[in-house]
Amino acid sequence: MNKWLETLITFVYPAKCQCCKVPMAVGRVHYICDECWEKIEPLVPPWCEICGMPVHFVKANSANHAHICVDCRAQPPLYDKLRSIAFYEPTLREAIHLFKYDRKQIFAKHLIRFMLKHFPADLSGEDYDLLLPIPLHRKRYRQRGFNQAEQIAQGIARIWKVPIGTEVLRRIKDTVPQSSLNSRQERVENITGAFEISSPEFIRNRKILLIDDIFTTGTTVNEALSVLNVAEATGIDVLTLARTRSSALGIGLNLT
Ligand SMILES: [Zn+2]
Ligand SMILES: [Zn+2]
Repeated sequence: MNKWLETLITFVYPAKCQCCKVPMAVGRVHYICDECWEKIEPLVPPWCEICGMPVHFVKANSANHAHICVDCRAQPPLYDKLRSIAFYEPTLREAIHLFKYDRKQIFAKHLIRFMLKHFPADLSGEDYDLLLPIPLHRKRYRQRGFNQAEQIAQGIARIWKVPIGTEVLRRIKDTVPQSSLNSRQERVENITGAFEISSPEFIRNRKILLIDDIFTTGTTVNEALSVLNVAEATGIDVLTLARTRSSALGIGLNLT
């Protein structure tokens, strides 16, 4: 093959895996080789029934006890339960980055397929009246051209036939990315007052599944939850594609 043609093809179709940088053959997933994609480990039970953090040991004779971690017992979260598909670790981090920041829209399909394949068994469409993606501020939405949380919600809604509220929860404050802030205090200050409910009647007495792409320290989700709780939702669960291994909820959980 001519050198220039090869260069052109390599430019148009990146031939190296974005994770391991190894030249890749045609795979199932664009930009990421099959080997790296297979390395994503979905989260599986046993996990804390509330925060969903996997636990690696269970107290003997715990069959009669609710599996709730010490952190959730000490300080019950604002949600009823939180579930994530996998930890926010190399391959998934790269995939989400390609999707969100490099705007590789093909990853909406890959990530939704991955999510549906490993969907938590204890979340069911019959339990919810409304799917609520964490909104972007309109300025960020214009820059990016889409809301990743909304696309994830659409992937679920297609299967569940549950409506998505895209204008119910609004982001009224143009916050800086939480990931750019180091301290919890800065994150809380950044996100406080970021959300408002446009139509409380869509929230009152409804069971809601709040959806986001990544759960890190929980400050964004908590801010949204506090606004939704004021609007008297019946209950709110949270689903994210990824979560960090250590969060504000702690690591090394003990089931009690
Ligand atoms: Zn790879
Ligand atoms: Zn917990």
